[in-house]
Amino acid sequence: MSDTDPLVLLIEDESQMRRFLRVCLVNHGFRLVESETGEDGLLQAATRNPDVVLLDLGLPDLDGLEVTRRLREWSPAPVIVLSARGQEKDKVAALDAGADDYLTKPFGVDELLARIRVALRHRERAGEHPEPVFQTGDLRLDQHRRQVFVGDREVHLTPFEYKLLSTLVRHAGRVLTHRQLLIEVWGVAYATQTQYLRVFMGQLRHKLEANPAQPRYLLTEPGVGYRLKAD
Ligand code: CA
Repeated sequence: MSDTDPLVLLIEDESQMRRFLRVCLVNHGFRLVESETGEDGLLQAATRNPDVVLLDLGLPDLDGLEVTRRLREWSPAPVIVLSARGQEKDKVAALDAGADDYLTKPFGVDELLARIRVALRHRERAGEHPEPVFQTGDLRLDQHRRQVFVGDREVHLTPFEYKLLSTLVRHAGRVLTHRQLLIEVWGVAYATQTQYLRVFMGQLRHKLEANPAQPRYLLTEPGVGYRLKAD
């Protein structure tokens, strides 16, 4: 372990969950700080400057949503929410409050590590210009030329379809809530018009997916939003 390994702040009150996460994070080259409460977690975030925060929503003192909102006021660290099953509203609220992603308990080690890698990559790139060409599988978006390809075939998108896809590309690998997508693509006045999103996502899938009913790239996060698959 060295000082250059990424530092993870884990805010979680269940000791079994902490033990599981401690083993898998330390074995995969992360440094770890642990907190059992929201208040202590905020203090650790301020003093240790973690590279990523793993945050349980059900904490004994503060609500995880409150912790997310307070972190977002001053901390640049990506926040990945850990939530129990059947709390879709909580996940949506956490993402809308500024969390970067969520994992539903129970989750596997590979899934956790993949989400952490995505979050760290986004943090590194935050200050840079976006990559001009994005590729996942045979889907390719050339942002400089505003061209979209599936394999060798160029696909023509309407302006809103393009804006929706490029928004997903900018956050590739991360979940975006319906509300976040509607605001980014159509504007604040459309924040609750989820039927718009459903229609345009359907159109995009028809143009980009080999089987729109079983998408490989434009993935649905049930009750929450959408995620573009990232390699
Ligand atoms: Ca808990």
